[in-house]
Amino acid sequence: MGSPRERGSVSSVLRHTDSPDFARATHRAISHGASSPRIAILGAGAAGLCLSIQLLHAGIRTFEVYEKSDGVGGTWRDNTYPGAGCDVPSHLYSFSFAAKRDWSRKYAQQPEILEYFESLVERFQLKPHLRFGAEVTAATWKDETSCWQLRFADGTEAEVDVIVSGLGQLNRPYIPAIPGLDSFSGPLFHSARWNHETDFRHQRVGVIGIGASAIQFVPPVAAEAATVTLFQRTANYVAPKNDREFTPRERRLFKFVPGAQRAYRFGIYCKLEARWSFMRRRSRLGALMQKKFATQLAPLASDRLTSEALIPEYVPGCRRILISDDWYPTLLKKSVSVETAGVDRITASGVVTSDGTEHALDVLIFGTGFTTTEFLAPIEVTGRHGKKLSDVWESGARAFLGLAVPEFPNLFLMYGPNTNLGHNSILFMIEQQVQHIVGLLQRMVVERIEAVEPSAVAMENFDSFIEGATARTVWAEDCSSWYKNASGRVTNNWPAPTVSYRRLLKRGHSAEWLTSTLRSDP
Ligand code: NAP
Repeated sequence: MGSPRERGSVSSVLRHTDSPDFARATHRAISHGASSPRIAILGAGAAGLCLSIQLLHAGIRTFEVYEKSDGVGGTWRDNTYPGAGCDVPSHLYSFSFAAKRDWSRKYAQQPEILEYFESLVERFQLKPHLRFGAEVTAATWKDETSCWQLRFADGTEAEVDVIVSGLGQLNRPYIPAIPGLDSFSGPLFHSARWNHETDFRHQRVGVIGIGASAIQFVPPVAAEAATVTLFQRTANYVAPKNDREFTPRERRLFKFVPGAQRAYRFGIYCKLEARWSFMRRRSRLGALMQKKFATQLAPLASDRLTSEALIPEYVPGCRRILISDDWYPTLLKKSVSVETAGVDRITASGVVTSDGTEHALDVLIFGTGFTTTEFLAPIEVTGRHGKKLSDVWESGARAFLGLAVPEFPNLFLMYGPNTNLGHNSILFMIEQQVQHIVGLLQRMVVERIEAVEPSAVAMENFDSFIEGATARTVWAEDCSSWYKNASGRVTNNWPAPTVSYRRLLKRGHSAEWLTSTLRSDP
């Protein structure tokens, strides 16, 4: 028989769990024999690594990171296309507790970012906790034992008390089901599964989907290929990146002058945060920016490069504003053309557009992004009373604080619904989430809490806030973007400045979380 439980009590207001006192209490409880929950972290990307490090810091060692591939780094491991890099300035693109101070350039490229994340494994001794080649396919909550049953792709199973997903929003490449897709005779691949064997020299290359990834890989591909045809449905706002290498003097400054890197990093954060004003609906700044783009791009238009292909018709920010120093020079190349007629079908030798034109191609690349709005899918998650997460999220994913869902106890999400940003670094959001989750887990240890989940009322209130706030953002405007699900609900973005999110999560773990406590044996 299991230990007696007190169920349904609302927790006291849990405050200051990130205080040193609370950390000490957790360490003390564990050293006095308190058991800590068995935790499964899904994914060894930025979020999974961040949580692992902070758990160790909190004295909680009972966790394993399940990663389906054979290495850490998540998106930075998957996206190896030429030109892959970050559009957040490098000095803000490392964790605050493990800031990298020797970045080579203002905007780091993928190999350097991946190297940073890989370096954390050794630095924080995470190796014993990493399980590679472990793909979770199902998670089922067992009410009788208050634990999760995990099933893996290889048929094995495991039992854990807590699941924290670090799968994020951009991990499943999306290739649209265009008729004839399988008939193409040349190399065909998605940007996140780059085919490094392909030699682009003397090749006619087609690119379907022009977003954040394509604007990075098209310039290097166009530098080699005979021709590049871009099949673009929607024009993007592409602002200058002003990327460059740091000078040796700057690098010495960041490395050796105390506080220099921190001040620079904080400056970047503030500058990006100020861009929130562009995310407001009907902002004056947005209107000015739209006008400025139209004026500056109009002279580039020609018979070959139409203004439709160049000038976006929606408000800036409705889709992600992209940055590049070589996008427009690439579009102006004679070997590059932009097709705005829709893709009708794919044949063995190319693409046929809706105007009936046949475009002969040797290589076809998809820059069509990711399946972004289904979050934990394709993992089959079943909560209390057999409830399926896919059913709960049928009309769009939602989670209290972007972190948890009622009736799915001890299941936490990092970079979950409504926590993506259009203006600042996602690592900032991940750090806030990790701190909150670790606080809850520490509380579970110290107070012998067996299960925690948000109350239905808390979820409803939070959802109303998200809906109201989102309606006041530019994402509510009429444009297609990966921030929205099929019914047009913005399921991905946080509709306020990042400081508001931080404040909300710092407020402590309030009575909005329901707990069930494992009572001490008499
Ligand atoms: P994306 O921005 O979502 O772009 C996908 C493109 O594919 C869009 O142009 C879309 O057109 C097009 N598309 C989708 N379905 C199509 C279809 N059936 N036919 C024709 N075109 C189709 O994807 P992404 O470029 O991979 O970027 C996704 C996200 O990854 C970014 O927004 C960003 O958050 C992240 N990312 C970040 C960086 C970075 O520097 N930090 C770099 C790369 C990616 P429509 O717009 O018309 O639907």
